[in-house]
Amino acid sequence: MCDHMEINTMRDYHDAVRRGPYAWPGGYPADWVTDDGETRCWRCGAKSYRQILWSLFHHVNDGWRVCAIALNYDDGDLWCCNCNTRIESAYAESEEQINCGGGRHAQS
Ligand SMILES: [Zn+2]
Repeated sequence: MCDHMEINTMRDYHDAVRRGPYAWPGGYPADWVTDDGETRCWRCGAKSYRQILWSLFHHVNDGWRVCAIALNYDDGDLWCCNCNTRIESAYAESEEQINCGGGRHAQS
């Protein structure tokens, strides 16, 4: 599995924030996975760094301790549990717009 990267230390978190949401292999949109298994959008994970660093430092499972970065390939229905923003995906976005409706039919 290479679609997520574990975060175990404050340093891991710092590195992740510095890389930004699109700097991961392939440039896919990244989001945070917290200790309670919830998903947070990149903005919430970067904005709440004080809370997250505190949780990492004290190693508490309070829902803020991020444990991984995940890449969202094709889940067009993934929502941030903190701000309820839909999390961007790499492929599901364009699929919704593909609409060949009523194309021409070649009949012989
Ligand atoms: Zn959010």
